[in-house]
Amino acid sequence: MATITIDGVSKVYGEDTVALDDVSFTVEDGEFMVLLGPSGAGKSTLLRLLNGLESPTSGEIYVGDEAVAGTRSDVAMVFQMHNLVESMSAYRNALTGALNRTGVARSVTTQYGDDVERMALNALDTVGLLDEAGQRADSMSGGQQQRVGIARALTQDPQLLLADEPVASLDPKAAEDVMGYLRAAADERELTTITSLHQVNIARAFGERFIGLRDGEVVFDGGKDDLTMDV
Ligand code: ADP
Ligand code: ADP
Repeated sequence: MATITIDGVSKVYGEDTVALDDVSFTVEDGEFMVLLGPSGAGKSTLLRLLNGLESPTSGEIYVGDEAVAGTRSDVAMVFQMHNLVESMSAYRNALTGALNRTGVARSVTTQYGDDVERMALNALDTVGLLDEAGQRADSMSGGQQQRVGIARALTQDPQLLLADEPVASLDPKAAEDVMGYLRAAADERELTTITSLHQVNIARAFGERFIGLRDGEVVFDGGKDDLTMDV
């Protein structure tokens, strides 16, 4: 749905913490890109810049033709700790994705209208949780909760889907399960997707294109065949 351009982006915290150092790359429309790198490499920083939560110290980021300046309704994020409202149902949590869309009332208790309700149900269907729509989030397994987090992001109807270490807190079986749903959702909706991961085996199983960061610099950019274990 959108080509993403990162053009000469640097991010410096404080006086001298260089989180990103002149990073440039393009993510093609509909590509499923995985960001790899050890802790401290700059993955979260890059995702926060893409999300408009922070601004680059220098350089530009474009979603399609538009420079990112502040948070955008067409960029959705899946978080490591899913950040669900635990007492609410899977369906209610998915609906809150619509809060991030322009023109929708910003209250969880507001009636959303049929189109948004249909989008939330479609999103739950995409992550295989239609039958669990009425269950409280805190009654679900960690993997199911993260799938609700994906459904919430899909309900936002984004151009760009970001996921920051979406399976870091899950056991290997649940991690594979969640990554399978994330990839399938992205493929089904032809969504440009950027996911950070630190497990190379999971990245290899589900990714299409891989960018490796280390100390804020791009040290790898390629496909599955070029991917080595020490990214
Ligand atoms: P991750 O590896 O998942 O990014 P971190 O422990 O590095 O986790 O960071 C967790 C949070 O703390 C992030 O929001 C990050 O921006 C913030 N953070 C990381 N390093 C620093 C720092 N040196 N000073 C202030 N905040 C930091
Ligand atoms: P990763 O997600 O790959 O673990 P981060 O983007 O969290 O990496 O961190 C990259 C570098 O920037 C680290 O040195 C980290 O300590 C620093 N950093 C991240 N967020 C902040 C922050 N809010 N304030 C200061 N330093 C930060």
